[in-house]
Amino acid sequence: SDYLARIESLNPVLNTFITVDREKTLEMAKQADARRAQGQAGVLTGVPVAHKDIFCAEGWRTTCGSKILDNFVSPYDAGVISRCKDAGLVTLGRTNMDEFAMGSSNENSAYGVVKNPWDQTAVPGGSSGGSAAVVAARLAPAATATDTGGSIRQPAAFCGVTGLKPTYGIVSRYGMVAYASSLDQGGPIAQTAEDCALMLNVMAGHDPRDSTSLERAGEDYTGALAQSLKGLRIGMPKEYFGEGLSADVQAAIEAALAEYRKLGAEIVEISLPRTQLAIPAYYVIAPAEASSNLSRFDGVRYGHRAADYQKHINEKTSALEALYEQSRAEGFGTEVKRRILTGAYVLSHGYYDAYYLKAQKVRRLLSEDFQSGFSQCDVIAAPAAPTVAWNLGEKGDDPVAMYLADIYTLGVNLAGLPGIAHPVGFGAQGRPVGLQLIGNYFSESRLLNAAHQFQ
Ligand code: GLN
Repeated sequence: SDYLARIESLNPVLNTFITVDREKTLEMAKQADARRAQGQAGVLTGVPVAHKDIFCAEGWRTTCGSKILDNFVSPYDAGVISRCKDAGLVTLGRTNMDEFAMGSSNENSAYGVVKNPWDQTAVPGGSSGGSAAVVAARLAPAATATDTGGSIRQPAAFCGVTGLKPTYGIVSRYGMVAYASSLDQGGPIAQTAEDCALMLNVMAGHDPRDSTSLERAGEDYTGALAQSLKGLRIGMPKEYFGEGLSADVQAAIEAALAEYRKLGAEIVEISLPRTQLAIPAYYVIAPAEASSNLSRFDGVRYGHRAADYQKHINEKTSALEALYEQSRAEGFGTEVKRRILTGAYVLSHGYYDAYYLKAQKVRRLLSEDFQSGFSQCDVIAAPAAPTVAWNLGEKGDDPVAMYLADIYTLGVNLAGLPGIAHPVGFGAQGRPVGLQLIGNYFSESRLLNAAHQFQ
């Protein structure tokens, strides 16, 4: 209830939560206490956690940052939510996010912007801006989040906290509202790598209800935290440290790499020659998948239904079409509509080969770049973003400027690799800088180990 009190006083200022439900939270806390009293507690039983409003949770309103799901109360739990419940974690509330996880600043939320706790004139990053901001503002010790193109790592960096995007397939996507299914992956945001490891222990694991969920033996992600970094080879891709990277971020990252050297790591220069292609490939593939995934929001089965759709029925528009069109026109925000249109375009007959198929080929090439990088190093160092958090409103009407800021995070999702962002200092205007470490498939323990030793 200390956290609930803090949330009550700070949430009106920061707007980090879309939904809080004091009674539900206290009820869960009571159950956790009972488990403890019966000697059935795990390490995290009774620990409070905030959930990104993208994970369906039974009895909780699940909006995904969209007006179209404003009245949607989920009848079931997402895989991640059931695992958290089984571990005895207590839900503190549902965090704000860009609508359907589309965005890099949390400004696309239908529930208002989130303010960066370090500087309330700055964005918190996105799309998991609420999850990063609650951890930074100490409104929750940890939060769940998702990363389709950087949405865990970039807001973690902007808010000076730690976020891990796991290997694709480790964390169940069941009940996690789909944006771009081949890229979406859930993961934790917390103060430290150690807390992320504890959270990943809960979140990761096979789920037969997600066809892309991997069957792997369970792993204790805290197991390798204490290992020395002696001999660890950290690759510095020259394409990530040239033009486009702001000087303050570059300086903070170079200082961090010097620190890693002191811890016994060796820095080697590598090349990821096709880095520039990540943005165009991602912004074809992600909208294509989104246009398909978001077709389920039709005003019929659940979510917003236009009240006066009948007015729009005419000789060209049937009642059903009017219902779809009006409900979607009212329910979706501008960026979501832009992505649906882009996606439908690149998938359409006549353009499919030129855009979608081409983007899939580029995706393969980007994976090959990473694999050749990993033949020379164990982990790859990168900025999480080219600048520190920008000002609220600064890129509001320029979607392409926003897309360009994703340059260092998209490749990881296209290749399905794990990546961690951890705080390494401050840049312009005293805003936090995050360093990203990218590992090969299933190297979460190694990434957590490196970040833990640094911290
Ligand atoms: N900024 C990227 C986008 O808008 C990534 C978002 C995400 O990872 N969910 O698509």
